[in-house]
Amino acid sequence: MVHTAQSLDSLKPTQLRELSATLLKKLEKQDAKLAKQTLELAQQQTLYQSLKAEHTELMGSLTDKERELLFSQIKVDQLTHELAVLKRLKFAAKSEKLTDTQRKLFDENLEIDLAAIQCKLDEIEPERVAARDLNKKSPKREALPADLPRMRVEHEPDSTVCTTPGCGCQLFRFGEDVSEKLHYEPGTFKVEEHVRGKWACRACEKVVQAPVPAQIVDKGLATAGLLAYVLVSKYADHLPLYRQETMFGRAGYAIPRSTLCRWVAKCGVQLQPIVDALKGAVFKHRVLHADETPIQVLSPGDKKTKRAYIWAYAPSKFDSTKAVIYDFCASRSGYHATEFLDSWSGTLVVDQYAGYKSVFRNGVSAAACWAHARRKFEELYVSSKSPIAQEILKQIAILYAIEAEIRDSSEEVRLSVRQEKMRARVDAIFAWMQMHRLQVTDGTAIAKALDYSLKCESELKAFLCDGQIPIDNNHVENAIRPIALGRRNFLFIGSEMAGKSSAAVMSLINSAKMNGLDPLEYMTDVLSRLPTQPNSRIEELFPHNWKRQEN
Ligand SMILES: [Zn+2]
Repeated sequence: MVHTAQSLDSLKPTQLRELSATLLKKLEKQDAKLAKQTLELAQQQTLYQSLKAEHTELMGSLTDKERELLFSQIKVDQLTHELAVLKRLKFAAKSEKLTDTQRKLFDENLEIDLAAIQCKLDEIEPERVAARDLNKKSPKREALPADLPRMRVEHEPDSTVCTTPGCGCQLFRFGEDVSEKLHYEPGTFKVEEHVRGKWACRACEKVVQAPVPAQIVDKGLATAGLLAYVLVSKYADHLPLYRQETMFGRAGYAIPRSTLCRWVAKCGVQLQPIVDALKGAVFKHRVLHADETPIQVLSPGDKKTKRAYIWAYAPSKFDSTKAVIYDFCASRSGYHATEFLDSWSGTLVVDQYAGYKSVFRNGVSAAACWAHARRKFEELYVSSKSPIAQEILKQIAILYAIEAEIRDSSEEVRLSVRQEKMRARVDAIFAWMQMHRLQVTDGTAIAKALDYSLKCESELKAFLCDGQIPIDNNHVENAIRPIALGRRNFLFIGSEMAGKSSAAVMSLINSAKMNGLDPLEYMTDVLSRLPTQPNSRIEELFPHNWKRQEN
C-alpha cells in the first residue's frame, strides 16, 4: 500500500502504529547493513595493511637481480592488462554512437595509447623486438615527395688523417651515405639530406665515417623540430592529429595519421623519465599548491563519456622552481592525492575542498585560499549588497595590498611583515566574523559565506606563520587553466595509464610556459638532446634549468 500525505491523515491510530513499526524495522535493517559494511571496510583496510607489510618484507629479502626481474614482470602484466582495456574500448566503440569528431579523436588517442604500450613493452623486452625485426622484412620507407625543397647537412669525421698507429696517411673520400629527414616550420616542409661521407686509408685500408646521430624515433624520418611541432600542437594548442594531417597535406605532405600517432606515442614514452625526475624535484619543496579540474573522457561501452580529473601540483609561487606536475585520475577522490604525494611532507595549499582531508596526516598540513574565501563574500555582496560582506571585502583588500608590497621580498622579510602588519588584523577579521555569525540565521547566504571561512580558520591563518606559504591558490589555478581550455577536445580516452602519459607531456609543456620558454623551442631541444643525455644529468632538461645551447 502506498501512503500519500492525504491517506496518512485518514489512517486510524492502530494503522499508524503499524506503519511506524514497519518503517522502524526497515531503518533497523539499514543500520545493521551499514554497520556490516563499516566492519567489512575496516577488515579490508587491515588486510591491505598486512599485505603491504608482507610486500615490503618480501622486497627486502630479494636480491637486486630478482627484484629487477619481478618489477619487469609486474610492468609487463600491467601493460598487458592495459592492452586488454584498450582493446575492449576499441570493440565497444564500434557499436557506440559517436559523432564524427568524437570518433576521430577516439581513434587517434586509442592508436597513440596502443603504440605507447608497444614502445614500453619493447623497452622491457628488447629480445622480443630483435626477434620480431629479424622475422620481418625490413620495411621500405616511403620516399619523401621529390618536390619538397632539399637541404644538405654534412657529417664528416673530425679528422681525415689515418689513426692506425704508425700510419698517419691522408684519408680519401670514396663515397657517402644519405638519409633524408623531414623538417617542418609553420607552413613549409623541408627535407634535410644528412650526408655521411665514407673515408678510407690507401695504405692500411681503414674505413672511417661519422657516426649516425642518435634518433628519438625509429629510423628518424622526422627531425626533432617536427616531432616537437606535432606534440606541442596536440597538447598545448589542442590541435588533434587528424587536423594536423590535413594541415600538413596543405603544406605538401600529408603525414599519415598512423605515423603521427606513433611519433606522439614514442615521444611520450621517451619524455616520461624527465617528468618522473621533475616530479621528484617538485616534491622536494616543502610548500606545494594543489588543485584539480574535471575533464571529459571518451569511454565507449561505459556510457559514451565519463568524468575524470586532472590534479595539478606546483611548488609555492614564491619558489624559484617554476613547474607543474599533472596527474590523471579516474575520480575526485582524495585517495589519488594521498597516493601521488606518497611520503611527501610539508604544507599543501588547497581550496577548501573536502576531498583533500585524507591527505592531511602526520607531516602534511593544510593552507587555505583567501581568494576562495573572498569569492563567497563577493558573490554575496553582488547579490544582496550585504554590509557584512562589504566590510570583509574591504579587510581582505587590505591584506592583499600588504601582500603586494612583499611579493618580491625574501621569505624571512615576508614572514616578519606578515607577523607585524597582518597577524592582528586577521585575528580581528575572524573575531568579527564569529560575532556576526552568532547574529545571523543558519542556512542564509551570509551564514554560508561566513561558515566557509570560519570552518578553515586555522588553514586561512597558516600563511601568517610561514613566509613561503602564499595567501591564495591562484598560482596553481593559472597552471591548470590550459587543461580546462582543451577540455572539449577529448585528449583522453577511458584508460588511466594512457591518461597519465598525456598528463606527463602536458606537465613539461606547461612547466616550460611557466618559465617563459617557447614550448616549441624547448621541446625541439629536449627531443634532440634526450637520446644522448645521460640519466645522471637529466635535470638539465627540466624547464626551470633549461638553457639554450650555443652553437
Ligand atoms: Zn692508414
